[in-house]
Amino acid sequence: MSALIAGLEQQLRQLDSQSLRRRLRTTETPCAPRVTVDGREMLAFCSNDYLGLAAHPRIIEALAEGASRYGAGSGASHLISGHSRAHVLLEEALAEFMAPQIDSARALYFCTGYMANLALLGALGGRDADLFSESLNHASLIDGARLSRANVQVYAHGDTVALEGLLQASRAEKKLVVTDSVFSMDGDLAPLADLLALCERHGAWLVIDDAHGFGVLGENGRGALEHCGLRSPNIVYMGTLGKAAGVAGAFVAAHETMIEWLVQRARPYIYSTATPPALAHALLTSLDIIAGEEGQSRRDHLRALVAQLRDSLRLSRWQLLPSDTAIQPVVIGANDEALRAAAALHEQGLWVPAIRPPTVPKDTARLRVTLSASHEAEDVRQLARALNRLEASA
Ligand SMILES: *Cc1c(COP(=O)(O)O)cnc(C)c1O
Repeated sequence: MSALIAGLEQQLRQLDSQSLRRRLRTTETPCAPRVTVDGREMLAFCSNDYLGLAAHPRIIEALAEGASRYGAGSGASHLISGHSRAHVLLEEALAEFMAPQIDSARALYFCTGYMANLALLGALGGRDADLFSESLNHASLIDGARLSRANVQVYAHGDTVALEGLLQASRAEKKLVVTDSVFSMDGDLAPLADLLALCERHGAWLVIDDAHGFGVLGENGRGALEHCGLRSPNIVYMGTLGKAAGVAGAFVAAHETMIEWLVQRARPYIYSTATPPALAHALLTSLDIIAGEEGQSRRDHLRALVAQLRDSLRLSRWQLLPSDTAIQPVVIGANDEALRAAAALHEQGLWVPAIRPPTVPKDTARLRVTLSASHEAEDVRQLARALNRLEASA
């Protein structure tokens, strides 16, 4: 064996010995609570399909219609010839939807949320910028901060006092505060109103990654900004469209001048092939559902399931984190115990992922339960019963 391959093999064995090796599981059926995975039917609590739209018949139909109308691929990047009428219509619909929260709103559609974050921070940063990053931010924001070449300073989770100190001390011309709205491994919300007040006082941009809020939070599904009643020209909003919206991609909504800057300067946007227009076409239907009565009733049902789960868990050693969102993590601590718990649930036909470092801090390995509007009360009852029994016997 070559020395290079042998070196990798050794590092992989090290991951095994720390219970940190990850494994791909293959699903054969559409994303739904009941899914066939590695040949077996399971009840799943892992997806980010919070509203149950990933396999919605109307959206599937719209995707097929989009493909027959616009073809399979876009053929080029947006600034060459890949910018289709379908992309324009989606961007206009997203801007109109988000207009109550953002002044002179314009929206830009990206292939993925990961790419949107790299694009955004890369285009806003620069060596003359100070970038203040929340310590539990998503990996894509961390990587975007690195790409931005800004001077990055990390503030502790939710610590607005520490952030204020950093902002006061900053002499940079450009200041950016960057945060997840809903923290993806904890399910809690950033103190967005306080963060915005600080940003307005110190002339800083507030970049909000609402991957887990868009479609889910707020009366009309406009996400964390609507939930917190916020509106400001300082806000740069990123929402993803592969989670609650059930398809793929992401968008940035902000003041039209900011969006025009991204079109000119965001390298991952400029140098990448535009997404298939059919996806944008399908997303018009997602947005229609999110904004309408069906979205509202799906959000209500999801909220009821979250309350039901929290009411029915009786844990003592394991810790259910304080979260009102669809993300309901049960912190176990040690990697091997978290893996054993996930395996025991799996035996019972329940699919809940164990999340370990480096995704979460050391000694906080957890079961990350996510609920969806496509779950039923009986599904949640089954999960709660299994978790209560498992902790009592562990
Ligand atoms: C999922 C996620 C992303 C990435 O979005 P994709 O569209 O899946 O690439 C970015 N930020 C957060 C907080 C996420 O949870």
